[in-house]
Amino acid sequence: MGNAEHTEIRIPCDSEGFILLKCPICGALFKLDANVLDDDSIFDIYCPECGLVSDSYITEDVLELALIMAGNYLDDMMMNEFRKLERDTRNSPLKFKVTGNLQKEKEHPIKLTVEALERKVYRCCKKEAKIKPIIKMSGSYCPYCGVQDYGIE
Ligand SMILES: [Zn+2]
Ligand SMILES: [Zn+2]
Repeated sequence: MGNAEHTEIRIPCDSEGFILLKCPICGALFKLDANVLDDDSIFDIYCPECGLVSDSYITEDVLELALIMAGNYLDDMMMNEFRKLERDTRNSPLKFKVTGNLQKEKEHPIKLTVEALERKVYRCCKKEAKIKPIIKMSGSYCPYCGVQDYGIE
């Protein structure tokens, strides 16, 4: 009813350019290289944990977390700007004072899992992903081609 037909939301990537994804089948969280995902030659993404292909790896909680993280990042930038202004105006007649901290929005507990992800290079595709340390050791599937990797470096 008058709503836009689709809204495109881009998931922000981490400082190393990886995007957080979640497998809707097994619930595994992993990260893939944003540049690779933009590549049109990649059609299917395989879950590194269960090895299955899904249509969409962007789930509600991933989206929510991504937006909160992006929001907190912006808050930090704003605080830094304010603090700079405070410093710069210290000796001028115009005073600017920062009081208190902006209340940060609580990041979802899945962030802890997300931060524990380790980089892994899949030799089959010469591409990287970030996966759980446990499956990096015990074996995983290449998200880009689905080949099983036995975890031996
Ligand atoms: Zn899975
Ligand atoms: Zn591969």
